[in-house]
Amino acid sequence: MPAETPSPRQGAGRFAPSPSGELHIGNLRTAILAWLFARSSGRSFLVRVEDLDRARAGAEEAQLRDLAAVGLTWDAQAVRQSERGDVYRDAVHRLQDAGLVYECFCTRREIAEAPRAPHAPEGAYPGTCRNLTEEQRARRRRERPAALRLRAGVDSRTVRDALHGGYTGVVDDLVLLRNDGVPAYNLAVVVDDALQGVDQVVRGEDLLPSTPRQAYLAELLGYPPVEYAHVPLVLNREGRRLAKRDGAVTLAALADAGWAVPEVVGRILGSLGLPADGLPQALAAFDPARLPREAWIFEPPAAGRR
Ligand SMILES: [Zn+2]
Repeated sequence: MPAETPSPRQGAGRFAPSPSGELHIGNLRTAILAWLFARSSGRSFLVRVEDLDRARAGAEEAQLRDLAAVGLTWDAQAVRQSERGDVYRDAVHRLQDAGLVYECFCTRREIAEAPRAPHAPEGAYPGTCRNLTEEQRARRRRERPAALRLRAGVDSRTVRDALHGGYTGVVDDLVLLRNDGVPAYNLAVVVDDALQGVDQVVRGEDLLPSTPRQAYLAELLGYPPVEYAHVPLVLNREGRRLAKRDGAVTLAALADAGWAVPEVVGRILGSLGLPADGLPQALAAFDPARLPREAWIFEPPAAGRR
């Protein structure tokens, strides 16, 4: 993997796992899709380690190793969010200078129990701390540290998605900096994508509901718009998101159960309606318009030999 900075003109796609454990076949399928989208459109492909929250020792190395093992290539060294605190704080300062940030002292429970407007969307911040007086803020600062929230000027946004078409979702006063000082996921993703020249975001469709917030935040920060493709998830037999407890779902466990890497890749590609004989063949045949729109129900092979 050459360590080059991709040319921003060319654009880039990315895969951004959280190093909380080994990747499972659902994560690998999303990674392969992100790579296919990027490479088939002449873009660079980047890997970013989203380790602000849940980093387990050794997980990053294992994830990068598995991505390489299935045949993915990326064009610059993987970037770690935990090393980029300054760039997120810079973005918050820019929003503060524009008067778009306020302190929030709410606990989760207070947010859940707060009275809300009759048509307020589920899960949206009710605005409790939006208009506190300086006196009220001074008092609450003595009780608990504040999170920083965006003072959003809209309550919804429509984004374009390659697989979902127009998608309209909630924009609320989202958290920028958590009250433990850690940059919030939505902020970090938006800042990283922009600063890394990412103009194509391919990820699991469970993240579609956060996309209007992220697109709005990107706009406020003056970042160029990105293309989105939210791809179907991999589910277990019960129709729930695939997880480690569903049996042999990681590359290592699948190998133990008798599926070597080429077989795993072949099954992933087959589930996407692509030639199952390898990534180059799949890339040549890749057409986003022909991707399946339903989840893939994954049946793990029987227990391993161990
Ligand atoms: Zn609050």
